[in-house]
Amino acid sequence: MSRIAVRCKELSRSYGTTAALSGINLEVEEGSFLALLGPSGCGKTTLLRLIAGFERPNGGVVEVGGKTVAAPGLFVFPERRKVGIVFQDYALFPHLNVGDNIAYGLIRGTDRKERVEEMLSLVRMKNYNSRMPHELSGGEQQRVAIARALAPGPEVLLLDEPFSNLDADLRTRIRSEVKGILACAGATVIFVTHDQEEALFMGDRVGVMNSGKLEQLDTPEAIFHTPATTFVARFIGTTDFLDGKTE
Ligand code: ADP
Repeated sequence: MSRIAVRCKELSRSYGTTAALSGINLEVEEGSFLALLGPSGCGKTTLLRLIAGFERPNGGVVEVGGKTVAAPGLFVFPERRKVGIVFQDYALFPHLNVGDNIAYGLIRGTDRKERVEEMLSLVRMKNYNSRMPHELSGGEQQRVAIARALAPGPEVLLLDEPFSNLDADLRTRIRSEVKGILACAGATVIFVTHDQEEALFMGDRVGVMNSGKLEQLDTPEAIFHTPATTFVARFIGTTDFLDGKTE
C-alpha cells in the first residue's frame, strides 16, 4: 500500500455555535487526487484551511507526510507544513516575473535556477521565464501558480475551486491539462469544488460533504453507482460514465 500523505482524524471546527466541520476522518495516499465536493457552506474550504494550517481545529488531528501538524496542544504553522497552495485567484506576485514567482519559496543558492527551469518545463511554459503576471492569460497564470506551489516539493498540493475563474469553454480543456501536469509531477492533490462533473473527472477519490460531515469517500464510480446516502445520490445527479477509448 502507498504511503499516506495526509490523514485527518475526528477533525472538528466550530465558529461560535456553527459546526463548520464535525468528526472528519480521511486518508489521502501519496500521488493520488482527492476531490472534496459539496454545496456552498458544507465545510470544504474549512477542511482545506485546517490542513493548510490557516485555521486551528477545535478537536481532532491532522497529519501531513506522517507528521502530526495539528492535535490538542500542538499546532504547526502553515510555512512549516510542507503544503503547497494554489489560491482561487492564483495570487501571483504582480511585481515579480514568472521565474521569480516560481523561485519565491525556494531556498537561496545551489539549484534554484535548475528547479525553476524544471517547473517551467513541467507546466509547459519554458519560454515564459521573464514574462510578468499581467502578460499572461488566466490559464497561464494558473500554471505558474501550480509551478510555484510545487517547486519546494510539498507533501500535498491544495487547490481551492481551481477552475472557477476560467470561462466555461476553457474549463474543460484546462482541467485536463492541469490533471495531466499534476499526474506527471506525481503530486498528491486535494482540491475543493462544488461542480459534480469536475470532481468525478479529476478525483481518484471523491469526498462528498454535507453540513460539515463527510457523507461518502469513495471512487468516482462508487459515488455515482452506489451512493451511501440519499444526499449523495441527489447531489451527484445525472452525470454518468461511459466506457470508451480516446485516440
Ligand atoms: P464551503 O467551502 O463548503 O462553501 P465553508 O468551509 O466556507 O464552506 O463554511 C462552512 C460553514 O462555516 C459555513 O456555515 C460558513 O458560514 C461557516 N464559516 C466559515 N468560515 C467562517 C468564519 N471565519 N466565521 C464564521 N463562520 C464561518
